[in-house]
Amino acid sequence: MPIRAENKQRYPKDWKLRSRFIRFYRAKNKCEWCGAENYKPHPITGSKVILTTAHVYDHRPEAASLLNLAALCNRCHLNHDREKHQRNRQINRLRNAETAGQMSLFSLPGECAGWGLQNPKEEKKIGAGLLRLRSMSRAGGFY
Ligand SMILES: [Zn+2]
Repeated sequence: MPIRAENKQRYPKDWKLRSRFIRFYRAKNKCEWCGAENYKPHPITGSKVILTTAHVYDHRPEAASLLNLAALCNRCHLNHDREKHQRNRQINRLRNAETAGQMSLFSLPGECAGWGLQNPKEEKKIGAGLLRLRSMSRAGGFY
C-alpha cells in the first residue's frame, strides 16, 4: 500500500528500515500469512507477489511496533484492509455528497480519512451517519 503524502509524517523516521527488516529478514521474503514468495507468481492468484508491510491490529501509521507489523502478499494485504477500504469509500462518498451540497448529516473531522480514528465519540457518530446513509441508499432516496 503506498503511503499517502498527507500521512507520511505520521510514520516513524525509520519506517523503511522496519519495513525491510520485516519483509526480508523476519519473513525471509515470504508472506507471513500464506507463505507466498516475494517476486514469484502467487500460488492462488498467479499474479506476481510484491510483499508489503501491513499494520495488523492497530492501523494507525504511528503504531509501528514490530509486533503490529506483518509482511503480507498483495492478496493477504488487500483482504486484511478490505473493511478499511469499504469504510473509506463510504466516507468519501459522503464527503463528496456534502461538498456537492446534496446533504449534511454531520461534519466529518479530518482524522476520519485514515483508519485510526482518534476519538471514539467521533467514530460512533460516523458509524451512525454511515448507517443512516446506507438505509437512505437502500430506500432509493440517495445516489
Ligand atoms: Zn499472503
